[in-house]
Amino acid sequence: SKGAAMVTAVAYRLADQTRQIAQTLDEFRLSKAQLLEVKKRMRVEIENGLKKKTHDTATVKMLPTFVRSTPDGTENGDFLALDLGGTNFRVLLVRIRSGKRRSVEMHNKIYAIPIEVMQGTGEELFDHIVYCISDFLDYMGMKNARLPLGFTFSFPCKQTSLDAGILVNWTKGFKATDCEGEDVVDLLREGIKRKEEFDLDVVAVVNDTVGTMMTCAYEEATCEVGLIAGTGSNACYMEEMRNIEMVEGDKGRMCVNMEWGAFGDNGCLDDIRTKYDRAVDENSLNEGKQRYEKMCSGMYLGEIVRNILIDLTKRGFLFRGQISETLKTRGIFETKFLSQIESDRLALLQVRAILQQLGLDSTCDDSIIVKEVCGTVSRRAAQICGAGMAAVVDKIRENRGLDHLEITVGVDVEVIFFALMIMHQTVKELAPKCDVNFLLSEDGSGKGAALITAVGVRQRELELQ
Ligand code: BGC
Ligand code: MG
Repeated sequence: SKGAAMVTAVAYRLADQTRQIAQTLDEFRLSKAQLLEVKKRMRVEIENGLKKKTHDTATVKMLPTFVRSTPDGTENGDFLALDLGGTNFRVLLVRIRSGKRRSVEMHNKIYAIPIEVMQGTGEELFDHIVYCISDFLDYMGMKNARLPLGFTFSFPCKQTSLDAGILVNWTKGFKATDCEGEDVVDLLREGIKRKEEFDLDVVAVVNDTVGTMMTCAYEEATCEVGLIAGTGSNACYMEEMRNIEMVEGDKGRMCVNMEWGAFGDNGCLDDIRTKYDRAVDENSLNEGKQRYEKMCSGMYLGEIVRNILIDLTKRGFLFRGQISETLKTRGIFETKFLSQIESDRLALLQVRAILQQLGLDSTCDDSIIVKEVCGTVSRRAAQICGAGMAAVVDKIRENRGLDHLEITVGVDVEVIFFALMIMHQTVKELAPKCDVNFLLSEDGSGKGAALITAVGVRQRELELQ
């Protein structure tokens, strides 16, 4: 009958729709063979970054940090720390006490950096930073203290010493002019001079991964790797000096800031990038750059999701085929929403409530699809991040000539627990000879900068003797 034919037609259309959605998401599902391939390619890029011959053209820069050891508990004193490069700018006072009752006490104040300042002139940016420091010193009543300062600056920097770092290029949401190619410590010192109000003793410029590693190493001596999966993504680890060809000397180890976010910028990940990844890249501030980071960090995951949702809507599978203004808005899916939506504990009704909050009217079917999209995108992120980490820990194991390595990775993650579990599982699968323990860092950028500064001050005093 006619009715039965209609039912069949609807059923057929639904099955076809389900198949097409599955097909779209399948591109994000990576096999173990593909993940092993990612690991292998990361290893190749690591070698390129470390070797003098290939360093200049390498995508994964493997930047020396001049941090030669992790903390030993004897660090002591009062320090200032700055934290630039995440969502907010922070100024901190960190009091470290050594001895039997080791302790770290922190006071901090958070300052917003307006987008006009992030993307204005370098002078405006550093004037703003110095203004915030001045406000903080007033607030703490410490204008005349001249404390040693550690500057956590979470961007790729070419360091020639602990307290000098030339910005290679901005990443994430920053684009201030006249900074690339300049020493950011000089820029900071010049800003302080312009203000003529106080003086600071800048001892160290620190990448957030290094701060994270140091913070965790302060608690757990086996921590020799740092990992960030926040606004951006990056890792660092203790490499053998003999392998770091860009630095003179063969003895001992030095922490290397990998800058792995740029992995894939030579096209080596193009076979696993989807058209949605390419769309996100094209709409970013730094097209063609930080391709790996754009597949696995907070600033971009929501954008990947949004691009998939727009496509599925255009094809009539979602939101009754209507692309709302909201869906066209960049940045609506912040990481926290992603985490909430994909969480298994959340009922579909709650997913719909979140979508509603974001201004997206969804049916029950819509919410099922959205949830699956979020889960798939963050799963892939955790897996490829895990594949990169597998390359790192296996390299450390080989460096030390071990059949089996036990190691701790200090992590600072914005992602949810679920993603961290998948990352852990991936590392286990891809680097079976390594026993990797993830330790969540508590404010790695702030505490870590202070610890590195403490080590730096001690080193300086030794040199003066
Ligand atoms: C930067 C790294 C930083 C990472 C995490 C990346 O965009 O290039 O230096 O460690 O973000 O903040
Ligand atoms: Mg060397």
